[in-house]
Amino acid sequence: MLEKVLIANRGEIALRILRACKELGIKTVAVYSKADKELMHLGLADESVCIGPGPANLSYLHIPAIIAAAEVTGATAIHPGYGFLAENADFAEQVEKSGFAFIGPTAETIRLMGDKVSAKHAMIATGVPTVPGSDGPLPEDEEEALRIGREVGYPVIIKAAGGGGGRGMRVVHKEEDLIASAKLTRTEAGAAFGNPMVYLEKFLTNPRHVEVQVLSDGQGQAIHLGDRDCSLQRRHQKVLEEAPAPGIDEAAREEVLARCVKACIEIGYRGAGTFEFLYENGRFYFIEMNTRVQVEHPVSEMVTGIDIVKEMLSIAAGNKLSFTQDDVVIRGHSLECRINAEDPKSFIPSPGTVKHFHAPGGNGVRVDSHLYSGYAVPPNYDSLIGKLITWGKDRDEAMARMRNALDEIIVDGIKTNIALHRDLVRDEGFCKGGVNIHYLEHKLASQK
Ligand code: ADP
Repeated sequence: MLEKVLIANRGEIALRILRACKELGIKTVAVYSKADKELMHLGLADESVCIGPGPANLSYLHIPAIIAAAEVTGATAIHPGYGFLAENADFAEQVEKSGFAFIGPTAETIRLMGDKVSAKHAMIATGVPTVPGSDGPLPEDEEEALRIGREVGYPVIIKAAGGGGGRGMRVVHKEEDLIASAKLTRTEAGAAFGNPMVYLEKFLTNPRHVEVQVLSDGQGQAIHLGDRDCSLQRRHQKVLEEAPAPGIDEAAREEVLARCVKACIEIGYRGAGTFEFLYENGRFYFIEMNTRVQVEHPVSEMVTGIDIVKEMLSIAAGNKLSFTQDDVVIRGHSLECRINAEDPKSFIPSPGTVKHFHAPGGNGVRVDSHLYSGYAVPPNYDSLIGKLITWGKDRDEAMARMRNALDEIIVDGIKTNIALHRDLVRDEGFCKGGVNIHYLEHKLASQK
């Protein structure tokens, strides 16, 4: 096993990784910014190192500071968590060049999947179904671009090859707008991602977001942990997730799960990963791969009983997967509510001091959160302050437990989105299951 892991992250995911390390008897190094001295996991780690001031670019995104912290503490491996440097290929490369194990895929894989055009190519080559569109980048030649648009059929979406976080995309409804939209997206992408390349794909009007969790040891073995539905989104940000995705065509599901596993083996994938798909009319369309642990990983853990973070640590230590696909049994149903420190009406982040925090409990309830009474949520980072997760023998039981848990949870002193979740788990459409990616935005718009 790994000897000493530096956790290059903060908040709930830093605590999550720390817990997994402790279970496995791995020593831990926590790093923190000056704005984060009050983080819960600092006191639980074997060592902690301040890596810079509050702004993330001077601390959690500052590669030399993190490598130096690993060097002075004698860490042997680095876990990037999600966000920050988790999908930064240069970071992964520098970590490995400095002699530490990077708990994730190789820099090469991160690079391949980080560029959406090369990722899509790789998927087509391994037989994973993708959204129909331009084969590679959208050509600058106007006639050629118009021909591709006509062939794919409107509406289309123009996406930046280097885009992420729901940015760098533009929907085009008619041919007259294609050239101007492509130009604009290229300019924006160049400025935002340092890469002006764009591509075009069919805009699906009514899709769900369904994704596949995989674990792969980079030594020829890969498995999937089933799927998750993350269709409840606001501004492309996931709000509430569940596993398995309800009401999916069984044959299409089996096919896509098998193809994801095959893709992992063919690209030599190492670690935990997620294949994201749009699902419409019984068919899956790949949109991107996330080469890291995801916020919503707990729902897959709850229905499989497999600890994804512990498996990541084991794979990084050079071990083969300790189980096969036949050992993975999907049992029951799980839901996750992302609790954010934000204004419930404007959704603007709302940092401040938590006067009182009470975590819910009971059978099938899990709380992944770094909150405690008296903790001050700093203004510098993402507004996620915790995740409320429930499991039930079926979707109805998981939902009933989530209603209870949301009634019990108390976060006093700051504004949160708990009321929105209380409303969602009683929403008729959501309770029925299988809503599309526009459902939440439409619901919010109708309440204005
Ligand atoms: P990012 O990396 O920025 O998250 P994605 O490629 O994952 O970008 O797309 C983000 C979201 O944009 C999707 O979850 C979906 O809501 C929407 N989207 C992307 N591609 C399409 C498409 N071809 N048709 C319809 N919606 C799309």
